[in-house]
Amino acid sequence: MTELDRRGDRSPVPSDWTYAPAPESRDVVSLQERYGLFIGGEFLEPQAGERFVTVAPRDEEALAEVAQAGPEDVEAAVQSARDAFAGWSKLAGAERAKYLFRIARLLQERAREFAVLESLNGGKPIKESRDVDIPLAAAHFFYYAGWADKLEYAFPNRRPKPLGVAGQIIPWNFPLLMLAWKIAPALAGGNTVVLKPAETTPLTALLFCDVLRQAELPPGVVNVVTGDGRAGAALVDSDVDKIAFTGSTDVGKAIQRRLAGTGKRLTLELGGKAANIVFDDAALDQAVEGIVNGIYFNQGHVCCAGSRLLVQESIYEPLVDKLKQRMATLRVGDPLDKNTDVGAINSAAQLEKIQELVEAGRAEGAEIYQPPCVLPEKGYWFAPTVFTNVAQSYRIAQEEIFGPVLSVLTFRTPEEAIEKANNTPYGLSAGVWTEKGSRILWMADRLRAGVVWANTYNRFDPASPFGGYKESGFGREGGLHGLDAYLDFDGSETFGG
Ligand code: NDP
Repeated sequence: MTELDRRGDRSPVPSDWTYAPAPESRDVVSLQERYGLFIGGEFLEPQAGERFVTVAPRDEEALAEVAQAGPEDVEAAVQSARDAFAGWSKLAGAERAKYLFRIARLLQERAREFAVLESLNGGKPIKESRDVDIPLAAAHFFYYAGWADKLEYAFPNRRPKPLGVAGQIIPWNFPLLMLAWKIAPALAGGNTVVLKPAETTPLTALLFCDVLRQAELPPGVVNVVTGDGRAGAALVDSDVDKIAFTGSTDVGKAIQRRLAGTGKRLTLELGGKAANIVFDDAALDQAVEGIVNGIYFNQGHVCCAGSRLLVQESIYEPLVDKLKQRMATLRVGDPLDKNTDVGAINSAAQLEKIQELVEAGRAEGAEIYQPPCVLPEKGYWFAPTVFTNVAQSYRIAQEEIFGPVLSVLTFRTPEEAIEKANNTPYGLSAGVWTEKGSRILWMADRLRAGVVWANTYNRFDPASPFGGYKESGFGREGGLHGLDAYLDFDGSETFGG
């Protein structure tokens, strides 16, 4: 008889290890029935009166009505930013810093409210919005607040000055974090802003407007125009000095064509198809955690997701076995449950795109594995998926799926790994798993990727620049490079956007 058996019913050790639900309360969020456009510090009705409903991806619950900005609204927002620019750009850096610090602290104070709303509107697990998105968003404001009064030291002898009004268009995968990546450096540099959140996830940007009011940011310094791609296109065509865009490569290319010859500055952060490369000397259990984090974090709605796993042939079988075992422990379900590892797919359209690519993978001859899991009936859901037997030419190895779908390929030599990793139109990120430091450096030198993680994945820090090569875009966000992209230097060369 074992010690545990002897304890019988008196044992404090639970006999059933099934997870009990641990839902985060959504009471901390008070939603308005309808939201206007945040222009000049006020919420205004859209001039054409058009609105749309934003839903919760977990169950398609209608959350609120949101304004669709028309070109006339976008123009008003840009004018408001232009008017505010005169005062904001002349404010001493130390004064601008005070506002940024205030915004950062308010985000921290209201972190729970933001986390719940982010998960509700976007579908990501609460543990991710609580532990990653919101703390990192606050960290970006803290970081750039620190630079606001030190621009002359950041760029010595280059006389930095703001660009003017920045138009910023962001996607739905990290709504508040992308907002912070864009707004914090712009304001620190003395610019004013018009931001267009993604159509499916406008709510945390609208809650952020409340933070701006609490922080008493001068009206017009930040304006938020909600709506679909039409609002984004109107912002691109408006009288802004710079466009900063994060989203799909197709839209990024269209924006670049639109801006050619206009003299407006542009930074593009686009898609990716990152290789996560595991050598036979890597610590396999850690690598499996990194692979899971690389592709199933945020349901794979991540531009730098490690969506192609390159495994050295000699460890292919044990690694794929371990990966499948680990996938079977992932809990898919309610984004507001603190146990959830994989939440809801962001929208019906994105779910359809994932399904279409997965079908293409099957049809092309790849072998699919999905762990047994019961998906909720309502809402948008997709089980964590891994494809083996994938050829380099398959669509699932070439195209960005932007969902919880991993494609596994193999290699024999480091040279072959490099060849395969770089064989994509993208170049945003990569991961290398090996015990050898020299091999990490050798690989990092040859990988055409803006970010290379070694023995880890998906690590972000406000001080570290992020951005891509090739069809993943140009310009960097984060760090001094991210600040550079919002500054002019009397004609001298820049090292960012
Ligand atoms: P988009 O590139 O369409 O969306 C990004 C942002 O641009 C959104 O705010 C969008 O508005 C806006 N937008 C759309 N059309 C225009 C336009 N013509 N001019 C200016 N702005 C515009 O991405 P989707 O949301 O449609 O996603 C499609 C695919 O893109 C995904 O499946 C994924 O593969 C990839 N993607 C990549 C991201 C990344 O970080 N690299 C992020 C998001 C998507 P609206 O939301 O209304 O469409």
